[in-house]
Amino acid sequence: MTEKVVYLTFDDGPHPTITPWVIAELDKVGAKGTFFVVGENAERYAQTISDLQANGHEVANHTQHHIKGWQSSKELYLKDVEECAKVIGSKRLFRPPYGQINLGCMDELTGDYEVIMWDVLTKDYLKSLFVKRAQKRIQKATRPGSIVVFHDSEKAEKNLKELLPEYVQFLKSEGYKMEVL
Ligand SMILES: [Zn+2]
Repeated sequence: MTEKVVYLTFDDGPHPTITPWVIAELDKVGAKGTFFVVGENAERYAQTISDLQANGHEVANHTQHHIKGWQSSKELYLKDVEECAKVIGSKRLFRPPYGQINLGCMDELTGDYEVIMWDVLTKDYLKSLFVKRAQKRIQKATRPGSIVVFHDSEKAEKNLKELLPEYVQFLKSEGYKMEVL
């Protein structure tokens, strides 16, 4: 039987106020998350990266400039991934922005990284999201081993702040542990 664990992931940060809010929310329920950060944000908000690591969260690679995988050359793409790796000082987990990655890059990266996609997409980045319906949908889609995507970004802030507290309470009441990947 698969263990009752859910992997919460947060893309596109760090953000100087939203990411600390997420840390505090996760802390309330003893949850750990994996943060796929954009290297240029990580450079700007280095303190937030230290805070994530100090709180037992995982900081992972989401490229230096959040580049599109289908519109970049292999060389440029791999360079952008490498740049982010240097900033965060870790080479373990990678998530391609927009879920876009060409097979050549995938082959190169899988030597160094585990490429992490997801099975539960909150769609918190949608301006028109009907939050109550989204809450029901993500709860229903959650399974042991689920990888759930949120965004600690300005675009998603309003939806994130409505979705996350109720969702982690749901996970807790269902007996799920929330761990890093
Ligand atoms: Zn992203």
